[in-house]
Amino acid sequence: MKIYNSLTNKIEIIDKKETYNFYVCGPTVYDFLHIGNMRPFITADVLIKYLKFKNKNIKYIINITDIDDKIIDKAISEKNTEKKISEKYTINFLEDFKSLNLSEPNSFLKISDFIDEQIKFISKILENDKGYVKNGDVFFDIYKSKKQYGILANKKIEDLIPNKRLSENDNKNNPLDFALWKKTDKGINFKAPWSEGRPGWHTECATLNYLFFQKEKVDFHFGGIDLKFPHHENERIQYLAVENCELSKFWIHNGHLNFGEHKMSKSLNNTILIRDFIEKYDSNTLKIIFYKMNHTSPIDLTTLLIEQSAAEVQKIQNIYNKISYYKITNKITNSKKKYSYLNDVLKNLENNLNLPNCLTVLQEIIKEINKSLSDSSLSYELLEQFQIINQKLLGFNFKYTVYSLADEELILEYEKCKKNKNYQQSDLLREQLKLKNII
Ligand SMILES: [Zn+2]
Repeated sequence: MKIYNSLTNKIEIIDKKETYNFYVCGPTVYDFLHIGNMRPFITADVLIKYLKFKNKNIKYIINITDIDDKIIDKAISEKNTEKKISEKYTINFLEDFKSLNLSEPNSFLKISDFIDEQIKFISKILENDKGYVKNGDVFFDIYKSKKQYGILANKKIEDLIPNKRLSENDNKNNPLDFALWKKTDKGINFKAPWSEGRPGWHTECATLNYLFFQKEKVDFHFGGIDLKFPHHENERIQYLAVENCELSKFWIHNGHLNFGEHKMSKSLNNTILIRDFIEKYDSNTLKIIFYKMNHTSPIDLTTLLIEQSAAEVQKIQNIYNKISYYKITNKITNSKKKYSYLNDVLKNLENNLNLPNCLTVLQEIIKEINKSLSDSSLSYELLEQFQIINQKLLGFNFKYTVYSLADEELILEYEKCKKNKNYQQSDLLREQLKLKNII
C-alpha cells in the first residue's frame, strides 16, 4: 500500500506491521461543526477500514480542544460558563461523529484532562534548551531548531519571517516563536511553574502524541491542509525538541471543501452543519461527495453536486431493495464465475486511496448485479463482494429491506399469479405492493 506523505511530498509505501497508530486533530468545541470539518475523519476512516480488512490492529486517538480563547468568548457572549459551552459542543461533536458511521477511536481525549502532562512536556522542551520563559509566558525558540523547522510546510524560515510581525504586547523574541504556555487570568486557568495560565494549542497535540505513542510512534497524523502550517509544523518541532525524532511517519492532509467560491468556514458564514446535512440527506451522500475527488484535492461543493450524489445514493439503495425482494422470490446461487470487483477496489485503495476509481468499480458491480437480478443468476460471491465494498471498505450504511411475514406472503402470491398468468389477480396484488412501497 502506498499513500502521499506531506512530510516528504512523495507517495510512499507503508511499512508492513501488525498495528498502525492514527491521530487526527480534533475540534475546538465552541460551535457546531460543518461538513468540511469531517473530511479528515472520513479520510482516516477509509484507511482504517482498509487496514482492518487486512486484519491489522489500529490504535486511534482524537483530541478535543476544550480550553481555548474561542470557548471563553462564546461563554461571554452566551452568558454561560466555559465548562457548559465545551460540554455542550463536545456532546454535539460526538453525536455528529456517530451519525457518519465512522470507526470509533480508542479514545476521544479532552485536553483539559492532560494539563499536568502538558506542563511536564513544556518543561522537557525548556530542559533541552529549545524554549524560553518571558514574563510568565513560555515560548518555543524557532532559531534553536532552525535546521528542522519548516520541513513539513516546505518553507524556509527566511521566507516565513516577512509574513510575521511582532505586535506591541508580544513577549516573544522572534515573530515565528510560538506560545507553549500563555500567562492569563482570562477564563479557566491552571497553575504552572511559570505562571497561572493555559497551554498553547500546538502543545496539546504534541503532548498527546508523546504520551500515547511514545514508544511506537504515530504512523498517520491527519488533518485539513490548513493545519499543515503552523499547527502541524509546530507540533512536529516540539516533538523533535523532546524526542529528537519525527512525530509521525506519514502526515496526511486533505484538501479544503469550497462552497460558493470560498473555503467552507464559520468565519465566512458559508457552512452547512453536519446535523443539517444528515437531516436532509445522509452520511452516504456526504461520503460520495468526498470520494469523488482524491483526498488531497480540494472539492468545489455545489447544490448540483449534492443532488447528483444524493441520486447516486438512491440508486445504490434501490439495488439493496431489489436484492431484498429477489431473496424472497429466488434462490441465491453459488457462482462459477470469478469476480474481481473486490480486488479492484482494494488495489485502488492501495494506490494512494484512489476513491474516485473505487466509485467506478462500484458502478460496475451494480451493473453486474442488475444483470444477474434480471436473469435470475445472483450469486453469493457477487453479493458478498458488493457488501464488503460498501460496508467494510467504503463505510456506507445501506440497508436491506426487512419484510413482515405478511408482506413476504403478499410478494410470493403476486409472483405466483404472474407466473400462472393470472393477470387480474396479479394486478390487484401489484397495487397493494405499490401502496406499501415494496415495488
Ligand atoms: Zn493537532
